[in-house]
Amino acid sequence: MTPVLELRDVSKRYPGVTALDSVSLEIETGELVAIVGPSGSGKSTMLNIIGTLDLPSEGSVFLGGLDVTTLSDRRLSALRGRWLGFVFQQFHLTDGLSATQNVATGLLYAGVPRRQRRALALEALDRVGLSHRVDHQPQQLSGGERQRVAIARAVVNNPALVLADEPTGALDTANGQAVLELLRRLNSDGTTIAVITHDRDIAAGLPRRIEMRDGRLVADTRAGSLV
Ligand code: ADP
Ligand code: MG
Repeated sequence: MTPVLELRDVSKRYPGVTALDSVSLEIETGELVAIVGPSGSGKSTMLNIIGTLDLPSEGSVFLGGLDVTTLSDRRLSALRGRWLGFVFQQFHLTDGLSATQNVATGLLYAGVPRRQRRALALEALDRVGLSHRVDHQPQQLSGGERQRVAIARAVVNNPALVLADEPTGALDTANGQAVLELLRRLNSDGTTIAVITHDRDIAAGLPRRIEMRDGRLVADTRAGSLV
């Protein structure tokens, strides 16, 4: 089967820095992958390239078998809107919009007719356990609840791949664990997820763990395997 994602010899260079050094990686449909490594090891650079938010200096990026480095900006944003969901450490919700409206923004570039957006947003909020907070605005929600709204926004378009960069980084331990539990549940319902985390305990509990150092993949371990 075609992998959801394939990086083939991807490098990213900035003046004086090789942020990614010839990385090759495949992610299959249904996986939940933890990406770990010290600060500055290239985790965010790799996730941004996977998410087409950034382009590699060298190498190829395939999403669903499509080489994204050949696409125009317009086709790239359409692909992003339909194929990908993003979760960030700082939530990136819009103040002044309700939880429902925030989640519905995840459908703006997915070609969903306006009248269907609210129903889909409510359904996504239900999936993350926030049916009782649909009219609340971000500033009326706790950190954990905000991140759950952001996760609802990331999955509302049923993306092929959800990318999360340190989604528990701004949360206390209990809320961080709850967010990870939610990601695990969404994954067992079929969502493919790659999540960057600096929390070794969290990473150790996930089915696949990729370790980065100095822009390289130094380990790729699946739970239950010895290598
Ligand atoms: P991580 O997420 O693992 O902490 P990053 O991917 O953010 O690491 O960064 C990897 C390396 O690339 C670091 O040395 C960082 O300083 C450098 N880097 C990242 N983005 C840029 C940029 N826009 N310009 C210059 N250097 C960058
Ligand atoms: Mg980072």
